Amino acid sequence: MAINLATADVEPRERRLKAVLTYQGSANDLNERSKTQSLKTTTRPFQQCSDCSEMCASTLSECIRGAAIVTHSPIGCAATSAGDGPLDVVTKARGVESQRTQVICSNIEERDTIYGALEKLRGAIEEAYRRFSPSVIFVQSSCAAAIIGDDIESLTDEMTEELGIPVAAVFCEGFKSRIWTTGFDAVFHAILRKVVKPPRQRQGDLVNIFNFLGGDTFTPLLGKMGLRVNYLVPLADVDTISHMSEAACSAHICETLAGYIATGLEQQYGVPEVKAAAPFGIRWTDEWLREIARHTGREDVVEDVIATEHARIEPELERVKKKLKGTRVYIFAGDSYAHSLTNMALDLGLEPVGVTTLHHDQRTDGDLDSLNTLGHLVAARGDIENFTVCNRQPYQMVKTLRRLKPDLLIVRHMHMTILGTKLGIPTVLEGDVNVSAGYDGVIKLGDRLYQALQTKRLIQNIADHVEWPYSDWWLEEEDDVYRKEGHRA
Ligand code: SF4
Repeated sequence: MAINLATADVEPRERRLKAVLTYQGSANDLNERSKTQSLKTTTRPFQQCSDCSEMCASTLSECIRGAAIVTHSPIGCAATSAGDGPLDVVTKARGVESQRTQVICSNIEERDTIYGALEKLRGAIEEAYRRFSPSVIFVQSSCAAAIIGDDIESLTDEMTEELGIPVAAVFCEGFKSRIWTTGFDAVFHAILRKVVKPPRQRQGDLVNIFNFLGGDTFTPLLGKMGLRVNYLVPLADVDTISHMSEAACSAHICETLAGYIATGLEQQYGVPEVKAAAPFGIRWTDEWLREIARHTGREDVVEDVIATEHARIEPELERVKKKLKGTRVYIFAGDSYAHSLTNMALDLGLEPVGVTTLHHDQRTDGDLDSLNTLGHLVAARGDIENFTVCNRQPYQMVKTLRRLKPDLLIVRHMHMTILGTKLGIPTVLEGDVNVSAGYDGVIKLGDRLYQALQTKRLIQNIADHVEWPYSDWWLEEEDDVYRKEGHRA
């Protein structure tokens, strides 16, 4: 199905990708059911916590160099924008100049819900322009703005004319989608519609890499084939973003993050999407490089690069595998990236006792089997018996982890590390995903996992002093009453 750039707002993942929020079964079963999109579980009868698409949108938009963000919302919705600590860390890791987040909230109040808040929004956009001199302004909508029906799209078009810079509306209202990663798609939708320009000239050695904030691990990897990396969109400036249409191809660190823009860019400007799983794990890196080589005319060098890299890392891989032998690991991360982590864990000889993804898309943008990372995982590695889809919900994860008792936990989001620690499970945070990419990434992950294993006594000591809010009845109850809706239907 084609991406529709004619409409101002993005189609939510529930509808577009048949995404689900709950599931309990096996990896193979989930993959089979996804082929017919037969799972319908987009709600849950009880929810302990959640997140908003606006948070995912901000993760990308706020990190664009020179961008200002206007959150058209009550002040509380803008709370996640406070502070720019991670930016300082990552600009250093990437080796680029430091930058600040530039955010203003229009502060919709109760009376605005009667009279409308467009004049407040106009004032906030003007203030952002005056205060930050930005090269682009993203106006992020909210539940309140959508409910009162403010015509943000018309105002942003008007302000684009008036200010002479792109002012792009991002429709990331939390109530429109229970799958918060819809917020990524909303920003990319706005970028494709309002920021990206037609190519002036193709750059045959330039590869778009859609990523989060992260270190520069792709330059050395792709440099071996004489290719340049175009990191998008965090830490990129507006000029770079507007000319992403000139690259030879587009790759990404996670299909869940960037499938939408890679598909849209191919559809709109003919930049081919790299149709292979992201480069996490040895074989997946091989296939990813081959696919990039095909789009950039590097077929003559790619096999040499792969062979040289295999020979280089082989002794290191054996060293790490020996240390981790017999270790049972649980993986808890976003949809596609959890599959990547599992693939790497298997390369390291670990035993994945279970996997939880925060949601699951039953199809990909463009309906591509080649980007179905769960399908790749099952086909190459076999089934994973304990496979869960769960949008955080510590009350469920505590029971699952207590039942399976892994030696190690790998999480993608920092607040879940606490859960592992409280349960006495050494936990590794996959914060900078770029670090784990490519051949060296597997070794680096292995070393970090081994280091974490050494903390077992300390972590157990902490766990021994933890008091859970859950009753013994709840923790020992086998039939999870709150999860029934997400069982195999
Ligand atoms: S779900 Fe709605 S009200 Fe809540 S933070 Fe998101 S936009 Fe604001």
